[in-house]
Amino acid sequence: MTATATEELAEPYLRGVLASAGLDVEYVRGDGDTLYYRRGTEDVPVLDFVGGYGSTLLGHSHPELIAYARELLAAQTPIHAQFSRHPYANEVAAKLNRIIKRETGSDESYFAIFANSGAEAIEAAMKHAEFERYIRVETLRAEIGASIEAARTAVADGTVAAGEADALLADVTAHNDAVFAGTPPLFLTPVGSFHGKLAGSTQLTHNPVYRAVFSALAAQARFVPVDEPGAVDDVVRSERRWLHDVAIDGDRITVVQRPFPRFCAVVLEPILGEGGIHEMPEPFVRDLQRVAAELEIPVVVDEIQSGMGRTGAFLASTHLGLRGDYYALAKSLGGGIAKVAVMLVRASRYKSDFEMMHSSTFAKDSFSCLIAAKVLDLLEADDGEVYRTAESRGAELLTALQGLMKEFPDVVKDVRGRGLMAGLEFVEQSDARSGTLRELHGSGFFGYYVSGFLLREHGIRTFPTSSAVYTLRFEPSANIGTAEIGKLTEALRDVCSQIRDTDGERLAPIG
Ligand code: PMP
Repeated sequence: MTATATEELAEPYLRGVLASAGLDVEYVRGDGDTLYYRRGTEDVPVLDFVGGYGSTLLGHSHPELIAYARELLAAQTPIHAQFSRHPYANEVAAKLNRIIKRETGSDESYFAIFANSGAEAIEAAMKHAEFERYIRVETLRAEIGASIEAARTAVADGTVAAGEADALLADVTAHNDAVFAGTPPLFLTPVGSFHGKLAGSTQLTHNPVYRAVFSALAAQARFVPVDEPGAVDDVVRSERRWLHDVAIDGDRITVVQRPFPRFCAVVLEPILGEGGIHEMPEPFVRDLQRVAAELEIPVVVDEIQSGMGRTGAFLASTHLGLRGDYYALAKSLGGGIAKVAVMLVRASRYKSDFEMMHSSTFAKDSFSCLIAAKVLDLLEADDGEVYRTAESRGAELLTALQGLMKEFPDVVKDVRGRGLMAGLEFVEQSDARSGTLRELHGSGFFGYYVSGFLLREHGIRTFPTSSAVYTLRFEPSANIGTAEIGKLTEALRDVCSQIRDTDGERLAPIG
């Protein structure tokens, strides 16, 4: 690709894709659930159901947060004061602990590692889990090394006969060396997962478009189907590896198998976000928790999209009775104005040396931590009013979407979600009557074209989930009103009618 001086240089291909779906508008202002783009001299309002992919549970430009941010900047709060005391980070961690303890009933504390984005928080979790695994691997290596040494001593002092014993010890050592060197850590995560797009986290993201090219880079994951009983155990059975240990039994050396700590962590979203808004089935969650306990590995709960109150509880995992050893939070933690993420680790698993191995220039700064602390205060105000509103608004939204599914059973395949994390899945119709509809279905961008139509014709912003393009996602702020839900329903009714009753020309991209 070549560029001229006037050409778009910031991700030009993406700009083209946006243009082809009619989504290439520039928003100049955001307020509550409304984004504005400029047309000539006027600002055109757009009702925003994307909500920064889940980052604006409190809406765009929340007045109290904006006022607080102004105050902080005016007071010259130092953004860059790395390697000094950070009481504001401690305050965020303390507030998160209070909320999580209340919600999960746990009395164990969680230590916090800060980050700048969701993927970074997940990578911190991956690294911490790998640190835990490393310690177990090295402990095992030392234990087996000691028993091989003891066996050699027994050969040397004649307790056991040489000859066969020497060969056996050589075999055991060769086998173990191969397992130690050739068995990278393995993460277990559900089919459909999305945990980020950095070098490590992208390997835990199921969609091969984001993962396959980079699979040689780093960690490895096995994706477990969520609706097949016994699937987790099957994966563990097929992927586990064994080390050989030795024991002296009278005048003989015997070989004993010991499990190699291959598995690193179970990582899961309580509700798949980018995978199409699917809540994890409870039996699957129970299986994952049991297997993690058996393998002694941490359960990492990715609440980056589902957490912070959007589902009516601070953690969506609360609804499933799922307790995390680690939690990852981001998106709405920054209140729509700061880039802040945090990874929490249960005290009993926490390795404090990790703090000397992991850091980021931008993470844990005063500005983003103070904003996050304020966001937590806003969420907790009036005895959790925001959570209750998210739940009731979400119920209203889901009821409206379910109404559409009843009205258009041939067009709407499913409506799913919890609270303000809702999804509507369209029926895939590769054999649609009209050529235009067949093209839309065959394009791989179905949901994006529908989004372009909704923006163009109804002033509504929604997107498909990134790994399931037939599912539109709706993640507005907790302030979304009945009128706005009504406007969305009308607009979606129009989409459904276009698909059911017309040749789909109006849905097709312009130009
Ligand atoms: N985990 C989940 C569940 C997400 O939804 C996302 C973002 N969509 C991420 C991780 C990655 O977050 P970020 O884009 O901030 O890196």
